[in-house]
Amino acid sequence: MNFDILTDNFDREHLWHPYTSATNPLPAFKVREAHGCRIVLEDGTELIEGMSSWWCAVHGYNHPVLNEAVRRQTEKMSHVMFGGLTHEPAISLGKLLLDILPEEMDRIFYADSGSVAVEVAMKMAVQYQFAAGHPERTDFVTIRSGYHGDTWNAMSVCDPVTGMHGIFGKALPVRYFVSAPKCRFSDEWRQDDISELEQMISEHGDSMAALILEPIVQGAGGMRFYHPEYLRQAVQLCRKKGILVIFDEIATGFGRTGKLFALEHAGVVPDIMCIGKALTGGYMTLSAVAATACVAETISDAYPYAFMHGPTFMANPLACAVAGASVKLLLESGWQSRVSAIESILEKELGPARQLDKVEDVRVLGAIGVIEMKEPVDMEYMQRRFVEEGIWIRPFGKLVYVMPPFIISQDELSYLASTLVRIVSEI
Ligand code: PMP
Repeated sequence: MNFDILTDNFDREHLWHPYTSATNPLPAFKVREAHGCRIVLEDGTELIEGMSSWWCAVHGYNHPVLNEAVRRQTEKMSHVMFGGLTHEPAISLGKLLLDILPEEMDRIFYADSGSVAVEVAMKMAVQYQFAAGHPERTDFVTIRSGYHGDTWNAMSVCDPVTGMHGIFGKALPVRYFVSAPKCRFSDEWRQDDISELEQMISEHGDSMAALILEPIVQGAGGMRFYHPEYLRQAVQLCRKKGILVIFDEIATGFGRTGKLFALEHAGVVPDIMCIGKALTGGYMTLSAVAATACVAETISDAYPYAFMHGPTFMANPLACAVAGASVKLLLESGWQSRVSAIESILEKELGPARQLDKVEDVRVLGAIGVIEMKEPVDMEYMQRRFVEEGIWIRPFGKLVYVMPPFIISQDELSYLASTLVRIVSEI
């Protein structure tokens, strides 16, 4: 395979790609088009999509229903400001979201991306505490191995070791970190798992505005699946101390873990919740922060009476229109049976990797399959091998994982997962 014709000189010399050197970058393969579960490269090579473009493209690419939603909205208006104006796509999407989110959620704040949703949620928590007469509550507590995005405050609550704390050091606000939960999703619950959080809250809880975490699945910080009881007890501890709870469901939302939202595994509800990624089916960037009536009313009943955030592209009509179409499509698509079929195939096909010497662990939950290696993988080598074999997977560190679009066929998924195991076994 001639890899040179699959990349682009201008791109390599002038475009910065995520998490790679600008001067000696990992290869970026040029995509001509994408449809269904296939990414088509410049030379016509087809790759079976294993990443859903980082958790987003649950319906695959180029979906006629989503294309039509964008086309129709473009003909009406692509954008108007949300200050002083409103529109049907934002209203319909809001109604749809309130129908599927936990019933305690009452207000939706639209934002631009996952990271911005996390910024908004953290600001909301601090402004709530200020309005509730607790201006001293400005700290946050979180669990290690988390990931919440790349903007300033989001970065400050990412895992302090695998995250970017080492580089940004003192420039980042200091947060309270406790160990990541040790009990795995299907382990027996051990009460000592929650002790550290309990202790931290009892010592420093009075200065905490909120606990922020990804419910059940910690994504980019380690692809870990933890016990629902941790979440239940964490919420209880916070409630007793007047600490708000923020769930970051940006990666886990919209069916990925086998429930529409991961919080359903534990049957608990936060005060503030962030969603994004699959919200638009991967068509464009949009996120939303949902809050309880209590959070919204407390903020709005005290000076300055407004929540202090208002992005230019808030509730962009194109994004809201495609998000509305995507959520409806998901609800009508029989996503539960699709996700459980994906889970069974991933179990079956990734399972044999448990026997490999270099593999530390294999785990599957919903439409997420993870092979954790003992050592970090050679990204460039792996990426090329994946492309040679016609699959698209992007590992990071010791983690080689898949989260395919829900529309993937059984044959495509079996090929994707078995090829992944074959390539891992070559290392
Ligand atoms: N939170 C979680 C749990 C995420 O997985 C991500 C993205 N990987 C983000 C926040 C940040 O989202 P974005 O990249 O859209 O800013």
